[in-house]
Amino acid sequence: MKLRKIKNSKNNNKKIAKERIEELFNLAEKTYSKEPKMACEYAKSARKFSLKYKQPFTKSQKTRFCKQCESYLFPGLNSRLRVNKGKIIVLCNNCKHISRYIYKKS
Ligand SMILES: [Zn+2]
Repeated sequence: MKLRKIKNSKNNNKKIAKERIEELFNLAEKTYSKEPKMACEYAKSARKFSLKYKQPFTKSQKTRFCKQCESYLFPGLNSRLRVNKGKIIVLCNNCKHISRYIYKKS
């Protein structure tokens, strides 16, 4: 009985973490134009949640976060997003870090 309880709570934690990450990214998107520093803080805490509860970012979230300087990326303002040969290339304007993701048509 005890084991089952722990398992359930773990699954719940993962669900909550996923929702939390989405919420934080939404908040960051809204606040970026007014307070870019706050948006970065939101992105950082979203990253913490994803590491703690082993919930990977979705593809759209990955393109919104710089792994190197841990800042929130807003395409057109502090990042450049290009699609080239089936790959998404994200350039961070803060640290010039380039990340590439495979783009698949679904
Ligand atoms: Zn960066």
